[in-house]
Formats: sequence, structure tokens, C-alpha cells
Amino acid sequence: MVVVMRSTATDGDIERVVATVEKSGGECFVSRGQHQTIIGLVGDLARFAELPLHAFPNVEDVIRVSRPFKLVSRDAQPRPSAVPVGAHHIGRETVTLIAGPCAVETPEQTPEACEMSRDAGASILRGGAYKPRTSPYAFQGLGQDGLEILGEVSRDLGLPFVTEVVTPADVETVARSADMLQVGARNMQNFQLLKEVGLSGRPVLLKRGLTATIEEWIMAAEYIAQTGNLKVVLCERGVRTFEQMTRFTLDVSAVAVAQSITHLPVIVDPSHSGGRRELVLPLIRSAIGVGADGVIVDVHPDPENALVDGPQALIHEDLPELRETMQRFSAAMGRSLESELHAGGAAAGGRSQGWGQSA
Ligand code: PEP
Ligand code: MN
Repeated sequence: MVVVMRSTATDGDIERVVATVEKSGGECFVSRGQHQTIIGLVGDLARFAELPLHAFPNVEDVIRVSRPFKLVSRDAQPRPSAVPVGAHHIGRETVTLIAGPCAVETPEQTPEACEMSRDAGASILRGGAYKPRTSPYAFQGLGQDGLEILGEVSRDLGLPFVTEVVTPADVETVARSADMLQVGARNMQNFQLLKEVGLSGRPVLLKRGLTATIEEWIMAAEYIAQTGNLKVVLCERGVRTFEQMTRFTLDVSAVAVAQSITHLPVIVDPSHSGGRRELVLPLIRSAIGVGADGVIVDVHPDPENALVDGPQALIHEDLPELRETMQRFSAAMGRSLESELHAGGAAAGGRSQGWGQSA
């Protein structure tokens, strides 16, 4: 069961609901969203049904939820949510381009890849400082040094960045500098990590596990929401199938399904799913066409010498088409590219025709 509070609810109103539920033997998980607070109730449904929660001050609705996830469900919050990342956001009204190098490799490669990304219309930068690698012999990322490089590039370009955190012990350090924390596919069911990133209060980019069902993926998001942090963005990044010609199989239907049963934004990673540079633009077209709220793309100035995932990175000569594709397909879906919306300056709330170059 879920109690949806009005936007005018005070801490006292929320506390009154929680105390009443706890007195009847139940447990409450309070999630404070941008506009509304949602309280998830766990325990004996029949007993909750007897409580006059509807009549409590500033309670907007009391909903019985039949799905196993509550706080992230559409039942709890019928309107799609927008997740703020720095001065930008990911949500249903725009299409957000997140781009940057797969990994932070050097103090030269990272700013170059990020400038390429900004020029292509990205409003959020990406880059891995801590890399989850299949082989223990492969480059594991620059760690803290990588975070510092990313932080400096982000400040110079005036754009927020998302970076992966691979272990609960690193959450505090990474959350200090990153604008958004990424939980990678290989960690989607690392429940301790999900709780820690939730408690950090930072927005979270949650990738779908290589073999996770849509429900398992959404239940992982529910773990984060249970900490009171509703700033979760889901990312479809392809699943493992029998197919060998792509790195993973991009499940575009998962985007539409997740959007229909949760209020969370859903984005697509065409780089890690296709695994090849020439597939990235076609997969972006399918992602925007199915209704994704954004895409996250690998960009590299010199992929032949990349330490991680060179074959899937877009290069300088791909950028005009990336920019044009993002713009044209977003417009066809009745949406604008998020960086265009903010090109006049987020603080001024201005709209302009630029490509985010002013950021
Ligand atoms: C990444 O985005 O760098 C990454 C490792 O992705 P995934 O977890 O989807 O494989
Ligand atoms: Mn990668």
C-alpha cells in the first residue's frame, strides 16, 4: 500500500501517518520526491485498510498496489518524474544526451572527449573512474585520480557528470564530486550498493543487468527508492541473448514497458549494447523512436588507442550526424533536446536555438 502526500504536506503530517502505521505493526518507507512525498507501507494490508489514512491532513491518496514494487510504480505517482542532474534534468519532456569517454584514461583524453560531447549536444558528461572489468588483468580505471580529472573537466565545461561506483565503500568519495552515480549492469543486484547510493542522496543511473528481467531491474530501483531517494533513472543497455553479431541485444520494448509501469525516466545505452561504432546511430534512432528520455553514448578522440571499449566509441567525424539525429528524432517525437532547452542558461531558463555551447 502507498500513501501519497500533497505537495503542501509538512514533516508533521508525514510523521503522523508514519506513527499511525507503525502503531498498527507496519513499517514505512518515506520517499521525498521533487514535488511530492510518497510513503510505502509494508505489513498486514488488511490492518492498514482499517486505518482512516484518507482523512489525515494533507493525504492526497491511499493506493493498494498489487505489483511487487511500490514507490517507483505508476500507481504511487501517475505523472512521469523528472530527475535533476546539476542544472539539467532527465525526464519525459525532453531527450537528454549524456556522452563522454567510457573510461577516464588521461588528463588529455578526457577533456577532449568531453568537449566533443558538449559540441554534439550533450548536457551531462560521462566517464568511468572505477571500471568493472570482466578480466582482472584489464585496465581497472584511474580511481580517485580519474574522479579529479572528471571534476575539473566538468567545472571547465560547466556541465554535470555521471560516473560509476562499483563498491559501497566508495560511495561517499564518489558522491562528493559526482553529480550522478551510476550503478553498472554487473552490480544491478548488489543490494548493499543500491542502498548506499540511495542514501547518498545523489541522482542514480541504474543500468539493467545483463540477464535481468524488467521486474528484477525495477525491483533494484525500488531498493534505492526505499532509502527515500526517488531520483533514479533506468538505463536499458542490452541483454545477453544467443546473438553473436552484437555485443548485447538492445531490448527496446523494455523502455516502453518500464515507462508504462514506473514513473522513472528511462534512457538507452546504444554503445554498450551494439558494441560497434556503426550501430550507435541506428540504435539511437530506435531509442528515441520508442520514447526513451535520453541516451548515454561513448565518445573518444582516438579509439584505436583507447584502453576500454574503443570499437564502440563515436569519433570526431560522427559528431555532426549524432547532433543532427538527436535533434531531428527528438523533434519528431514532439520533444526537444535537453541541452537546447538550457542553451540560454539554466538559471535564466532561456530557450535558444544553440547546441548547449554556452554551457
Ligand atoms: C559503462 O557504462 O561504462 C558500463 C560499464 O556499462 P554497463 O554496466 O552497462 O556494462
Ligand atoms: Mn564501457
